[in-house]
Amino acid sequence: MTRMRTTKTLDLPLLAMLLAIGCVEEGEAVPDDDDAQNSDVGVDVAAEHERLDDALDGLVATPPPPGTSVWSETLYADGTTRQFMLHTTAEGEVVFEELVDDRISAGPPEELLALDPCSDDAYIHTGWRWDTKLRWYFHAGSTPSELDVDAAEAAIKAATSNITGSHNSCGLADEVGASHEYLGRKSKAANINSSGNCLTSDGVNVVSFGDLPKGTLATACVWFSGGVAKEGDVQLNKADHDWTTNPGAASCSKQFSVKAVMTHERGHTFGLGHVGESSHGDLTMSPTINGPCQDSESTLGEGDVAGLRALY
Ligand SMILES: [Zn+2]
Repeated sequence: MTRMRTTKTLDLPLLAMLLAIGCVEEGEAVPDDDDAQNSDVGVDVAAEHERLDDALDGLVATPPPPGTSVWSETLYADGTTRQFMLHTTAEGEVVFEELVDDRISAGPPEELLALDPCSDDAYIHTGWRWDTKLRWYFHAGSTPSELDVDAAEAAIKAATSNITGSHNSCGLADEVGASHEYLGRKSKAANINSSGNCLTSDGVNVVSFGDLPKGTLATACVWFSGGVAKEGDVQLNKADHDWTTNPGAASCSKQFSVKAVMTHERGHTFGLGHVGESSHGDLTMSPTINGPCQDSESTLGEGDVAGLRALY
């Protein structure tokens, strides 16, 4: 797999000021503070933060506290994804980073290229792990009308256990030490807004249904510091998509499997990144969800399990 990183180093108030006075293009590194100390340009901070949001193409999270980071994935209904990170250094400097997976745009069908998931040991780590149990809640009140609340809750729990129990069809034993505890239903949404942005961390891990930008299936956010995850939230888009807990049903049409999508997102929650779609498309942690009315991501492949074993 090839992976391209786009990194932008941002001092937010300083960048806003420089954008306002036309000193930098989007993506250009910001000069050291010393270079701007003599500037006395007045800045409308709110307006310039809006300009900054535009400069980041809408991929904005609330910058986390100094010394911490927030990671986000947005999963689109066409199967593609976008990931980014915001890091705040101990000195308060904010670094924006977009991670881009490679894709095949043309060529033989994926199934001719992808390895068998049980003889494909590829994995990528995102840079965090949990050193405690993942203790989490479900915002049951957000369940869409096409789903039974009990069935939705069970599917999300099963998806989380698919990761901690390394559920696979390759005959691999569960040697993964990760664990989770479902704390029950809660009247609280994930810290993810309708623009798909990660909000300020509150340390409460929540899965909810809600509104996300059109074309988006799900957004996951993980807040972490020093390689240790602090919070992991997931929002599933019920405004633009229908969901199912029975993707194999003859009546299923354009409905996405709660368990399949949540298993992929829980892989991220526990620290797995994307492997390349073209060679590893049959692993759960390949970036493309294989469409509605199917459940293939609910079963891990060799690489998914190997990645979890290496972390836990
Ligand atoms: Zn993903």
